[in-house]
Parts: sequence; structure tokens; C-alpha cells
Amino acid sequence: MSRSEISVGQLGDIGTDEFRAAAHRAVEWIGQYLDTIRDRPVLSQVAPGDVRRSLPTVPPEQGEALEAIIDDFERLVLPGITHWNHPRFFGYFGITGSTPGILAELLIAALNVNGMLWRTSPAATEVEEVACDWLRQAIGLPVGFSGVINDTASSSTLYALAAAREALPIGVRQHGMPAAHLRMYVSEEAHSSVEKAGIVLGVGQDNVVKISTDSAFRMDPDELEKAIARDRRAGHLPFAVVATVGTTSVTAVDPVPALARVCQAEKLWLHVDAAYGGAAAVLDSHRWVLAGCDQADSLVVNPHKWLFTPIDCSVLYCRHEDVLKSAFSLTPAYLKTPEADSVRNLMDYGASLGRRFRGLKLWFVLRAFGIEGARRRIAAHIEMAQELRRWIEADADFELLAPSPFSTVVFRHRSDAADNERIHDEVNRSGEALISHTDVRGVYALRIAIGNLRTTLDDVRATWELIRSISQSSLSA
Ligand SMILES: *Cc1c(COP(=O)(O)O)cnc(C)c1O
Repeated sequence: MSRSEISVGQLGDIGTDEFRAAAHRAVEWIGQYLDTIRDRPVLSQVAPGDVRRSLPTVPPEQGEALEAIIDDFERLVLPGITHWNHPRFFGYFGITGSTPGILAELLIAALNVNGMLWRTSPAATEVEEVACDWLRQAIGLPVGFSGVINDTASSSTLYALAAAREALPIGVRQHGMPAAHLRMYVSEEAHSSVEKAGIVLGVGQDNVVKISTDSAFRMDPDELEKAIARDRRAGHLPFAVVATVGTTSVTAVDPVPALARVCQAEKLWLHVDAAYGGAAAVLDSHRWVLAGCDQADSLVVNPHKWLFTPIDCSVLYCRHEDVLKSAFSLTPAYLKTPEADSVRNLMDYGASLGRRFRGLKLWFVLRAFGIEGARRRIAAHIEMAQELRRWIEADADFELLAPSPFSTVVFRHRSDAADNERIHDEVNRSGEALISHTDVRGVYALRIAIGNLRTTLDDVRATWELIRSISQSSLSA
């Protein structure tokens, strides 16, 4: 290589002129995409392997123009996309990557900071602190809960339970797990991420104790107390309870005040999984969902679920920041900084060293909508879900299977599981809407979760009519 080739012009980044042209096109495309998203099938219609077969098996030897790559994004990648940003995406949880969030993601990538230490970008730490504290106030958690952003609730819960384990006076971090089994307690409706945290932490699935639920799918505090007493007699070491505010299947709200009393008496860490339901606490009408959570030791809420922030953004609130930090802080010589005692170094609060600047998108989203804007939108989602419940109730062929404290409705056609499965598959294959299914005490259930900012009551009505017409035309019953 000649000396003249070792220059930025020859070897540097793709030029900013080409970038600008492609970026303008991409932004135009995004606007058009969001404006016309209803025209697309919600569920991707490709078969397994289609996308992979459409792409070269070997990497390009020569670089290609950004324009050509965008062309192929539209032509080859998009058919394999299930449109989570679609207003008729009602599966799992309806979510929105909102325009302020999309904009922030672009800027986050441009800055490309790693927020591992305060000094590696003071603003990455401090904007995150401020945005998390705004959200804390918006959902009514008391002062003393400090927030840190992780990729997902799965990570947040894992880290919360690592802190719970650290709070035991037996030095697990240093010595490893003790001979006695650590035991943690969840309802039988809890999210699989809690059990997964038990796997990762070495607690073991056998020691993730599933407590039974009442007729509204809420953890039974009496059963919890009995299980703890039984475990102590057997020589086990109870250490944590995970309550759920808005379970994933039917969005039940565990009785956190009663569970908090048990945890206080038994000296157990209480972690609250409010990944979805926590957002509803911005509403006065739904403040009750976080009742008792001021007594929790930690709580997770996902702005990427019901707060319009592009995936990924999960806030872990902890009332004992020092314990979370002592669970994870490990500073090699080359990461030591003189200001470490007076600032927050984000690497101290989880397993990963590197940190994306996720606080920026939460800050953009909270500013662009305002808390009042978030309230009105979340209230509208809840109201649409209640309207859907009324339609289902009025139809003798269908039945509701659980209460809907939020914006999720769980129901079924009054025939067998196979018919309900057929409805689910036909709705999704139609591309008109996407719904999901769940198991409610052994019964196959259909599930509609409303959470997209573009969803209107017409979208909900059209989806309900589609379900009814499928049930009338194609079922054996
Ligand atoms: C969605 C959900 C999770 C998992 O969230 P991730 O961010 O995808 O890990 C955990 N708990 C509850 C209650 C959820 O609804």
C-alpha cells in the first residue's frame, strides 16, 4: 500500500455526502412507511428460509453503495418483517417505536458513545438519571428509587435478583452459592424471565417456587407465607419474592401491599415486575396498580412496552442502589477514575461493561409527549380494550376469560381449543391483524393487547369483526 493510500479519503468512513443523500431517503422512507403502514400485512408472510435464500451466501468483496443497500432493504428484508409498529399489531403487547424515539435512535448511533463510566460521556449517565427520575415521578414511585436503564426486563429482573442475593449476609459474590438452597417465590403466572434469572444465578429451577393464584390470577399471600415457613423448616434459604403488576398472560396484578408485609416480616427482597403494567400508573385512575410498591426493594418498568420508546429500554428502579452496586461493581485498574466516588459509573449496575445511550430516547419520548400526552394515550388504549370487552360480552358465541385492568383482553370462542387455534391462525395469516394466544388454566385463549399509538377504535372493531366472521364461516361448531 502506497503512502498516499493511507489517507482518510481512501480508507475512512463512507463519505458524509453519500450518507446525507441516503439518510434523507431513509427518513423519507420512514415517514412514508408510518403513513402507509396499514397497507402492509401485519404478520410477515414469508416461509422459513425465504429471506436467507434471497441473500448472497458470501460477503461482498467490494463495498456497495448505500443506495443499493437501501434498495435491498426494501426488496428483500421488508417482506420478512412482522410489523410491530402496525396499528393492528395486537399480539404479545402492542408497542410503538414513536417518531421522537426513532429520531433519538439516529442521534444515539451518530454519537456512538459508550456510557460505561461517567467520564466516557457525562451526559449519557446524567440524561439517563434525569429521564429515569422523570418517569419515577410520573408513575408515582417515591424518592429513593433510583433508576438505571437496561436492554430488557429480563436483564433488569436478573440484576434485581442478583442484588437480592447480594443482600444475604453470606457473601455469595465472593464464595459462591452456599450448601443450603436459595429459594425465591413467584406466582404461577409470573413471566418466564424470572425463572430464567433463577437459572442464570444458580438458584435452579427447583428453587423458583411457584405460588398459586386466586380466581383473578393474583398470587395468594397466605400460600406464600406457608411456602416460606415450609422452606425454612426444610433448611432452605428464602431470599426473594417477585410480584407481578400486569402478568404477561392475563395482566393480573399481584396484591403487592400484602406481599410487601410478608417480605418485611420475613426479611426478603421484594422485586416487582411491572414491565408492562407500570406505565398505567401515570393515570390517576390506575395509580392503584403500584399500591404497595413504595415498599418494594426494586421494580422494573419497560418504556419499550407501553411508553412509546423503541426497543430496547427497560428501567430498573432500586431502593438500595448501594446493594445493586456491590453486587456488580468490579473495577480493573484501567477503568479507575478519580471521580468514582462522586458520580455514577453505569458499568457498576449490571453484568455488561458497555452501555448504549438509551437515556436519550427516553428523554426525547417523555419530552415530546409530555406526561399529560402519555396519560391521554394510555387512557385511550384502556378505553378501547374496555369497549372490546363489551362487544365480546354481548356475543353469546364468545366469552371473556379474565379481567382486563389494563388494555389487554383475553377471551375465547365457546367451542374447543382447535377452533380457537384456527381463529388465531386465520387472523394472523390474513395479514389484516395480529393477535396472540395464551393458556388460561389449561384453556386455549385468544389475546388482544392494545398499545400502539396509531391504533383506533376502527382497528379494534375491524379485528373483532374479522374474528367473528372467521368463527362463523369456518368452524365446525
Ligand atoms: C414482556 C414482559 C417481560 C419481558 O420483557 P423483556 O423486556 O422482553 O425481557 C417480563 N415481565 C413481564 C410481566 C412482561 O410483560
